[in-house]
Amino acid sequence: MTGSPSSARLSTAEIIAVGTELLTPFRSDTNSLFVTARLNELGIVVRRKSIVGDDAVDLGRAVRDALDRADLLVVCGGLGPTDDDLTRETVAAVLGRTLREDPSIVEHLRTRFAARKWTMPENNRRQASVPDEAVVLDNPRGTAPGLWLETGDRVVVLLPGPPRELEPMFTALAHTRLASRAAPERLYRRVLRVTGRGESHVEEMTQRVYDRWRQVDPPVGTTVLASPGLVELHLSTRAASREAALGVLDAATGELAAVLGNHLFSTDGRSLSEVVGELLQRDGFRVAVGESCTGGLVTARLVDIPGSSSYVETGVVAYSNEVKRRVLGVDPELLTTEGAVSEAVAVAMAEGARRVGATDIGIGVTGVAGPGGGSDEKPVGTVCVGVVGPGSEQEARTAQFPGDRAMIRRLATQTALDLLRRVLLRRTRERATVRGG
Ligand code: ATP
Ligand code: MG
Repeated sequence: MTGSPSSARLSTAEIIAVGTELLTPFRSDTNSLFVTARLNELGIVVRRKSIVGDDAVDLGRAVRDALDRADLLVVCGGLGPTDDDLTRETVAAVLGRTLREDPSIVEHLRTRFAARKWTMPENNRRQASVPDEAVVLDNPRGTAPGLWLETGDRVVVLLPGPPRELEPMFTALAHTRLASRAAPERLYRRVLRVTGRGESHVEEMTQRVYDRWRQVDPPVGTTVLASPGLVELHLSTRAASREAALGVLDAATGELAAVLGNHLFSTDGRSLSEVVGELLQRDGFRVAVGESCTGGLVTARLVDIPGSSSYVETGVVAYSNEVKRRVLGVDPELLTTEGAVSEAVAVAMAEGARRVGATDIGIGVTGVAGPGGGSDEKPVGTVCVGVVGPGSEQEARTAQFPGDRAMIRRLATQTALDLLRRVLLRRTRERATVRGG
């Protein structure tokens, strides 16, 4: 009765996310992003995704349609014990398989419940019913086992909805059964991160380079993804050998780095805070922050990084002018003549923070986050950042940001971190020049 398993290559996939809650404004389908990432690593392309509610007719139709198109269908969710969980029954019906209770799963479920001193509710037995010829996928983090089903050359995978259950299960599958059915080519990616330049500017700087890399063998594809204060270039290539892939990715990255210069801050997945942290650590500098409109965001971004205690000393939120004066020692005269939002005050705040923290470097941020408080001279979105140190070095910048309060504060934070990065990088270059000369 059991046909011999197919060894046909899986190259295209579809994903169906099941759950009425995913059709409301309160939950979004994130499982498919995780599944797509793992499939892409195997060189399997996701052609279409759909979301259906807990409805047997809708789900049955979606499954049939997907199987007409794709080699692999991944269905997430609806494997729970309750009546609205229909995935197992619906897929079995579409494939014409009978469901049978697997006593070893019932036993496993009972043991799981017993370990918590609970008795298993009868409806959990549904999770032990397995379609003919299905392979059961272990769920170490929950009760619903996953299922692997083959129909001709196609494969259907059923996964539980909760991400913490789905993720380890699918990762294990990607390393085993899926890997052996995927083509030998794998997808390799490299992410280049740029700050201080907008999306179109980055595109203009890099397009000639990446257009050319599209024509090489193996070709390198580029996608430009922008978010506030950050532009990412995602390079990807498909190759049967890791060396071939890394070879072209390294070479393309090198050329892009040359045209992007200092605006490029990471090619290996590091965030801006990580890069800044590593530069501070390299030089053995400690930093103190005096922030107004960002209200602690700059310090928070710095301490996001584990190990930041070795270079972050303190962050002072000096929101009122009174605290700018009293705690950071900003000259009241400066606040009157230049205004609280000025490069002079940003630098004075950085200087004050440096004094309070007794650090090598101080950062100061002040700005108009809006929506009120703007003027003709300093409209909403005007932000000044200053960096002082090491020693007598001093650098300030004024920016004019678009967007709402949250966006302006985020962009101000990014700009402050980036200014610090550029100050520290200049030291790298100076040291290289001194050594070279
Ligand atoms: P169980 O009901 O046993 O928890 P299940 O397989 O039936 O498992 P669902 O009921 O479909 O899973 O989903 C359980 C929870 O998992 C949902 O409330 C939701 O928070 C989360 N979830 C489900 N599907 C997704 C998805 N596609 N992306 C992100 N989260 C999801
Ligand atoms: Mg459920």
